[in-house]
Amino acid sequence: MRDCGNPVLLVHGGAGALPESLDAASAAAAHAALASALRAGHGVLAEGGSPLDAVVAAVSVLEDAPAFNAGRGAVYTYEGLHELDAAVMDGATLRAGGVAGVRNVRNPVQLARAVMEHSPHVMLAGSGAEAFARQAGLVCVDNAYFDTPHRLREWQVWRDSGDRNPAPYFGTVGAVARDAHGRVAAATSTGGMTGKRWGRVGDTPVIGAGTYADARAAVSCTGWGEFFLRTCAAHSMCARVAAGSTPEQAARAIVLEQIPMLGGSGGALLLTADGGWSMPFNTAGMYRGCIDADGRARTAIGREDMREAAAV
Ligand code: ASP
Repeated sequence: MRDCGNPVLLVHGGAGALPESLDAASAAAAHAALASALRAGHGVLAEGGSPLDAVVAAVSVLEDAPAFNAGRGAVYTYEGLHELDAAVMDGATLRAGGVAGVRNVRNPVQLARAVMEHSPHVMLAGSGAEAFARQAGLVCVDNAYFDTPHRLREWQVWRDSGDRNPAPYFGTVGAVARDAHGRVAAATSTGGMTGKRWGRVGDTPVIGAGTYADARAAVSCTGWGEFFLRTCAAHSMCARVAAGSTPEQAARAIVLEQIPMLGGSGGALLLTADGGWSMPFNTAGMYRGCIDADGRARTAIGREDMREAAAV
């Protein structure tokens, strides 16, 4: 997959089996949302914003898009609610923020950033994270705001199947960006896995598992979170880049070798400070896109090459 020249921003909207409900209209909506996220992040960078500003802008667009399992459109828990996880990390400073199990914050990625910038902590969870969100002035919504008919159907199918393991209906969102000075940042946001219970937290908000950035590379993961947690996936990829691996070697070693060997599945975005990149996935598809410095956006869903997004 060498179909993006010199990217400044990569986004994903989750890796997994392509849903049966993915008709032409839903695919078009997903492509359009990926392109809007790319343009939002690119616009921030073009105006001199930081890579952190860019990934938060891009992920906020994807959280608001009902096609993806993050923010509005998040999957349902065992109890039929939504519990959201998110994280951000700034590679230049190694500052990071994460939130887990929040039920009422419209854009969890913005809360993760607020944790990083306005609290003395890196990770907040549950009701404490909600209290902090209110104090930080973030937009709070009723849990029903995150409801969508397609996720409800997935939850009903999962419940009626009698399976008590969480179902891998993926759709997590994430972004990695780099600015003209070669600084990078990463952000990821998710509703987790359908039917999750007992306060389950996946890899997404855990720094080093689903999200990581350092001076050389930024990574955002998607997939079966337990496996990304066990392999410290995002940090492992960055460590490989620091040790001299190419982006392709670093990302493939974890996503195409280590994780499937353990029985897991998913994908990742990896972007290096010098503009190298890789976005492997070991699933049927991964909603994904990239944009270069000139603002040319490309997107794809299945195994096909990314194609130029329609102009707006
Ligand atoms: N990694 C997420 C989790 O396990 C799910 C996903 O990426 O779709 O919570």
